[in-house]
Amino acid sequence: MTRRLLLAAFIVGAAVLAFIFWPRFEGAPSRPLAEEALVGEARQGGLTVALPEAVGNVEISDARLPGQPLVLIDPGHGGVDGGATGLGGRLVEKRLTLAMAREVRERLVERGRVRTALTRDGDDRLTLEQRAAIARRIGADLFVSIHMDSAPNPEAVGVTLYALSDVASSEEAADLAAAEARRIGPVVSTDDSLVEALLTDLALREQMEASHAFARRVLRRARGSVPLRPTPVQSANFHVLRRAQVPGILVEAGYLTNQADAERLAEAEGRATLVRALADAIEADLATRQAR
Ligand SMILES: [Zn+2]
Repeated sequence: MTRRLLLAAFIVGAAVLAFIFWPRFEGAPSRPLAEEALVGEARQGGLTVALPEAVGNVEISDARLPGQPLVLIDPGHGGVDGGATGLGGRLVEKRLTLAMAREVRERLVERGRVRTALTRDGDDRLTLEQRAAIARRIGADLFVSIHMDSAPNPEAVGVTLYALSDVASSEEAADLAAAEARRIGPVVSTDDSLVEALLTDLALREQMEASHAFARRVLRRARGSVPLRPTPVQSANFHVLRRAQVPGILVEAGYLTNQADAERLAEAEGRATLVRALADAIEADLATRQAR
């Protein structure tokens, strides 16, 4: 009798599991096996990962030792989306974010403690969804999106570090997240929305806590050498951070509409202090999480 009950329970259980996981298998053809293998290899060392859709290929630079953690740096905007401008149109956000992302990568590669990739290494236009998808596909451990601000008030100056949270920390943070939401392109893969559905609430809480911890880490390194906003760490529900599904922050590196910030951000020399703070914080953050 008991055996029959056990058998019945087993059959019902198997049916339930099949029901839950069936859509995954149905979605499988959109993600060929070859790509899965590439992503697996990408975890081992430096190589180029071919990505589907209009994302292009992402180069992952090697660390000195194999299997080191991987940071994905995301230069904001690109292509027809230039972002903010400054100094009478001489400064364009998309160019400066790319320059700065490359500088952070250069420092990380020099030191060889972590592996590094950029969401774009040219003037490509990527949707926010595509940026987040790259983080998931290459198995990034940390995500850093670089932006530069603009404000009607030319006195607005300094760096803001935005972490991920459900509730915005200020009206300004809420506005920024809302502006971001208006820029979200089409969600390209149905496979990915399923992944998000499977992501538990607990994982999201952990992602948010790690995002805040990383923002504070950058702040500790930037304080004293970089001009900061009065409340330098803010938070809001940023689509790109949430969907990346790894801890990450959005860095607003300064105001292109402020004379001092614009001059600081225009040249590599001026950007160097923030670049150093970011690179050091990235290494420290990945080292602690790897040690756990
Ligand atoms: Zn921006």
